[in-house]
Amino acid sequence: MTRSLTILGATGSVGSQALDLVARNPDRWRVEALTANTDVAGLAAAARACGARFAAVADASKGDALRQALAGTGIATGAGPAAVIEAGARDAEIVVTAIVGAAGLEPTMAAVRRGAQLGIANKETLVCAGPVVTAAARAHGATLLPVDSEHNAIFQVFPHDDPAQVERIILTASGGPFRTRSREAMRGASVADACKHPTWSMGAKISIDSATLMNKGLELIEAAQLFPVPVERLDVIVHPQSVIHSMVEYIDGSVLAQLGSPDMRIPIAYAMGWPERIATPAARLNLAEVANLSFEAPDLERFPCLKLAWDAMRAGGSAPCILNAANEIAVAAFIAGQAGFLDIDAIVAETLAMVPHAPMASLEDVLAVDAAARAAARGLVVKRAA
Ligand code: NAD
Ligand code: MG
Repeated sequence: MTRSLTILGATGSVGSQALDLVARNPDRWRVEALTANTDVAGLAAAARACGARFAAVADASKGDALRQALAGTGIATGAGPAAVIEAGARDAEIVVTAIVGAAGLEPTMAAVRRGAQLGIANKETLVCAGPVVTAAARAHGATLLPVDSEHNAIFQVFPHDDPAQVERIILTASGGPFRTRSREAMRGASVADACKHPTWSMGAKISIDSATLMNKGLELIEAAQLFPVPVERLDVIVHPQSVIHSMVEYIDGSVLAQLGSPDMRIPIAYAMGWPERIATPAARLNLAEVANLSFEAPDLERFPCLKLAWDAMRAGGSAPCILNAANEIAVAAFIAGQAGFLDIDAIVAETLAMVPHAPMASLEDVLAVDAAARAAARGLVVKRAA
């Protein structure tokens, strides 16, 4: 049976791996829409290759270029943020959300509001607007399937019929490229250093989040949104080999885990094929070759971003949204050479202290808090650089 599929953020790391699965299984999915931020050439090539019906570029100034690149193909095009939202709203059974950042929120909501099956990679959307997104999913009958490898692992071993059986959810973290570095040794880290992830190959933003451990903090908040378990039951363990993708400890002391080689096509295929499983070309796990699995407690002093996120999760309300927005601004400033690596946690902490908390009942509330936090964080970037 062929199912219709949309990929939001089709030109990125997750998006292109989703497209790889589509190319390997031409009868399984029919592509409705693909989107990109600015990469018109990559988007047009992908849309041609899979025969998409609609392609949207978020950068409004790239509309003509996209139309020209797809002239004569019959593929409809759109440009600007509204066109990306339209991509989410178009009728596709399955939507993979692979946009990076809170920019994915509105297109995700468009898919949620029509009851789609969502493969969620775009964790920032759940961090900044988890209660709004999950309430809309319940109201409209949308299914939220995690693509993030940790949450996908948890989903696979979670007692969905009786969450009270869970004593603890244990997220594994690779520890990132600076796992053994002192704070002093992190100070001069370059973008290239921070992006040298030991086990996964990913987009720049999530790679830097992995170096600060903010990624694990965002994932704690993401887990709190996806799984009905009190936040005190969420935990993190550093596991440098990235073989165990996360674990669920049950009240009887049993611990269930999902393992696999670090290849995102495994969780992406799980979410795109659900409830069926699909063959993937991912390398098979060779435990004799891996030989050793090791574990250590996360160091919240060297990695304050993880602590900030943990505190924001416990605080709830608008704190996770403020944290996420500040982190997006700080990471973008680091990439642009306007902030140092250790400025990231400082900017996030200061933004959390500055921005007043506000109600988070609607999408509009979320967008207002997100905008206020971005403005505050931008001010801090300028102040620190002066
Ligand atoms: P990426 O940077 O490689 O790709 C991001 C995609 O989003 C691109 O298609 C880009 O064009 C699009 N995009 C960026 N800004 C946009 C905007 N303002 N409006 C519309 N589109 C925009 O990122 P990635 O590594 O593929 O990560 C995507 C998401 O998946 C992130 O939320 C990340 O945390 C999550 N994730 C990624 C991985 C991974 O292995 N890469 C693993 C787990 C979770
Ligand atoms: Mg992850």
